[in-house]
Amino acid sequence: MSTQPDPAAGAAVKATDRAHVFHSWSAQGLIDPLAVAGAEGSYFWDYDGNRYLDFSSQLVNTNIGHQHPKVVAAIQEQAGRLCTVAPGFAVDVRSEAARLIAERTPGDLDKIFFTSGGAEAVENAVRMARLHTGRSKVLSTYRSYHGATAAAINLTGDPRRWPSDTASAGVVHFWGPFLYRSPFHAETEEQECERALRHLADTLAFEGPQSVAAIILETVPGTAGIMVPPAGYLAGVRELCDRHGIVFILDEVMAGFGRTGRWFAADHWGVTPDLLTFAKGVNSGYVPLGGVAISAEIAAGFDRRPYPGGLTYSGHPLACASAVATIEAMAEEGIVENAARIGEDVLGPGLRELAERHPSVGDVRGLGVFWALELVRDRATREPLVPYNAAGEAAAPMAAFTAACKKSGLWPFVNMNRTHVVPPCTVSEAEAKEGLALLDEALTAADAHT
Ligand code: PMP
Repeated sequence: MSTQPDPAAGAAVKATDRAHVFHSWSAQGLIDPLAVAGAEGSYFWDYDGNRYLDFSSQLVNTNIGHQHPKVVAAIQEQAGRLCTVAPGFAVDVRSEAARLIAERTPGDLDKIFFTSGGAEAVENAVRMARLHTGRSKVLSTYRSYHGATAAAINLTGDPRRWPSDTASAGVVHFWGPFLYRSPFHAETEEQECERALRHLADTLAFEGPQSVAAIILETVPGTAGIMVPPAGYLAGVRELCDRHGIVFILDEVMAGFGRTGRWFAADHWGVTPDLLTFAKGVNSGYVPLGGVAISAEIAAGFDRRPYPGGLTYSGHPLACASAVATIEAMAEEGIVENAARIGEDVLGPGLRELAERHPSVGDVRGLGVFWALELVRDRATREPLVPYNAAGEAAAPMAAFTAACKKSGLWPFVNMNRTHVVPPCTVSEAEAKEGLALLDEALTAADAHT
């Protein structure tokens, strides 16, 4: 279902946008944002009658697809009943959302602190870890993204940190495992795992483990390249944290709520962190929501002393109502299982088959509906299709690839030399196959640069 094309309305929306909206991560004078008229399921469309298969899930958040009728109805119902109430009150939808989340998070992460998004969740997790340990340092990996607020951007390891890196006191970066571009020159996953753990142990030894409050990791690093950790890595980090009394924070803002084919990515490895941050998929971003799931031990530390942090919109009723409806619909409709099956049966084999035929594809990795294709000039040298660390620079071959995708009706998620294949968890087999066929065409544009 699409609305009737109305190019004049689209032009007016865009003109007002260009006059008054200041966009994230953009040179304001160089952008040409698409005016979106509507969306449903795995598709959205513009005012000119162009429809796009959403292989980005926007910013990897519409896990339940666009305009899921149960979630839309729940928001409408809640809006008619109670739009807003301060965080200090008990409210049915907030209690229920917290219960449904706590039921699904691993281990004893049974108390939920709500925020408005992922970065605020990271800020609060770090604050909790510092208060809990009385220590200040926090370790995070170079290939990571944790958000764009003050502490979160400094924890972020990828080059988006650079322009804002003015207050990184207490933040120490280290290398996580990534076999394709191994920082440890490893040749097997086992070697990579072992060397990455040794590197972290060495980093701790030289930082002084008694000064380290927390280690924060994305369970499967997302924006930095969807790097599935080798078996044993997360358990090894858990062990190091336990040995030194360090709080282990897993950031599941992107990987959580079905994206990897499990409710949480940590479930793949049976690892329980002390704090788990979430956002995006918790309600597919229909209303801004994020949070921290807190272990019994850390929560108990605030039984007799106040937690010194809060937000006006913590546990906002519209956001919580949409989370309740999202989680219930995901459970009733088998949406997490769908993500797992599509990954195993369609996307994994389909992307590997594309890699065989397209010389520009250097690596395929992922799980569930969380995949990355790494595009290279030369498979042997693994030279990326853009200068490495080219954040923010125009990169002609990747721009050509992106344009080819959009022209064919596929909306990709492109970052540096990678395209991430991240459709909604609700994507059907037919839609996933349609996306693979469109990617096949667009990769020919990338092959021209090999
Ligand atoms: N952590 C991770 C792993 C993320 O992927 C993101 C967003 N891409 C964030 C934190 C920040 O979330 P938000 O943009 O909602 O602040």
